[in-house]
Amino acid sequence: MTTEGKGTKEGFLTIADAMKQGTGAVAVRGWVYRERGSAAVKFVVLRDGTDILQCVIKKDAVGEEKFAEADKLQVEASLEVHGTIKEDKRAPSGYEVAVESFTVVGTSDQFPITKDQSPEFLLDKRHLWLRSRKMQAILKIRATMFHAFREYFDGRGFLEYHSPMFQATQCEGGSSLFAVKYFDAVTYLAQTWQLYAEPAIFSYEKLYTIAPSFRAEKSKTSRHLTEYWHAEMEYAWADFKGIQDHGEGVIKHMVAAVLERHRKELEILGRDPKKLEPSVSKPFPRMTYTDALKILKEQCKMHVEWGKDLRTIEEDKLSQLYDTPIIVTEYPTAVKAFYMKAVDGHPEVVQGCDFIAPEGYGEIIGGSARETDLEVLKRRLLDAGEKLEGYDYYFDTRRYGSVPHGGFGLGMERVVSWVCGLDSIKDAIPFPRTPLRWTP
Ligand code: ATP
Ligand code: MG
Repeated sequence: MTTEGKGTKEGFLTIADAMKQGTGAVAVRGWVYRERGSAAVKFVVLRDGTDILQCVIKKDAVGEEKFAEADKLQVEASLEVHGTIKEDKRAPSGYEVAVESFTVVGTSDQFPITKDQSPEFLLDKRHLWLRSRKMQAILKIRATMFHAFREYFDGRGFLEYHSPMFQATQCEGGSSLFAVKYFDAVTYLAQTWQLYAEPAIFSYEKLYTIAPSFRAEKSKTSRHLTEYWHAEMEYAWADFKGIQDHGEGVIKHMVAAVLERHRKELEILGRDPKKLEPSVSKPFPRMTYTDALKILKEQCKMHVEWGKDLRTIEEDKLSQLYDTPIIVTEYPTAVKAFYMKAVDGHPEVVQGCDFIAPEGYGEIIGGSARETDLEVLKRRLLDAGEKLEGYDYYFDTRRYGSVPHGGFGLGMERVVSWVCGLDSIKDAIPFPRTPLRWTP
């Protein structure tokens, strides 16, 4: 892509920069986004990584032979254009180039994606659909959110750290593990970095990562992928409130970055920025699981028996009462993972928190203070039907200088879906993987 602002060696500007220049001679290049024409004029809307721009090719200006070439241009052909730019309110992006010369770089013959195609067809042609303005807008917002996550933790003394993707044990429940043939042995794809991050907090204390996690989720829902990008943090000397504060802080930072840099992309996606603003300006309501059951009963007429995990429909109802994410804490010990630390004096509930996004986008963060007592950890693993073998390395974290610690995992695609207002989590990642789809 051309460099912003300066143009390339050959003098090409990005479309955004050409429009910023606004008048005079420009050279731009990109792909045909739309085309229509008559016997003497061809209108080509050109697309690049930054925007779209109408280019008008007149027979008078380029000559008979070149015009014949322009006439044959189809959607997604690539070309270089030299001409004069000027403002034109009727043009799709407000500017128009009167073309003086052009070069077709790569032809395109009957691009398979036309109007009104089914979501499944667009997934089959995902490698081409990535070129759409919708996907381009999502990819830009997604990249900003990755950057903002790193920026938040880099700015607070955390170190980016990486765990292995081949792991010998489970962390989030054996049923969603992907087994992998590992030479003559069997290993599993990472569900989380956590059991490999905990050992490292004794070295650097404050860590974060953004890496793929793999979950063999059998249920097909609009919020589960089998491969997703998991932004996680873990730190020594953590207390439960601090973990929640960081979760809220990083989400605010990510949403603020999108609002600051991506007004245009939100508009392309039809996403009203007003829906996101409260999440930057207002504190996230925090409530215990027990309080959440009361609210569900009183305000939503939904009865959940104490001890049952919140289901999607209950989370959705609850989330609709608020215009920011909410933080639900102190879930029953029995429904949460073996490593969550119980509340002091209340072994029946844990210092665990789920952040639930507004508008029915579901859980975006799961976090907790970690159990430090080795015997409790072992018992809870056994209670969950796991064998202790393979965990010895992890148990060492509680044998040598154990300290209070904790962290959380944030599903990047869940947050991207919510921020972009997407119908399906599949559009929050370039090539989605689900139980029924692993190509292209
Ligand atoms: P859920 O109940 O929604 O399946 P979970 O309790 O299994 O979530 P955690 O194990 O706490 O989730 O994982 C941390 C975060 O990772 C979640 O808050 C969510 O944002 C994200 N996440 C979990 N599973 C998936 C998945 N299959 N696809 C995309 N994101 C996921
Ligand atoms: Mg899950």
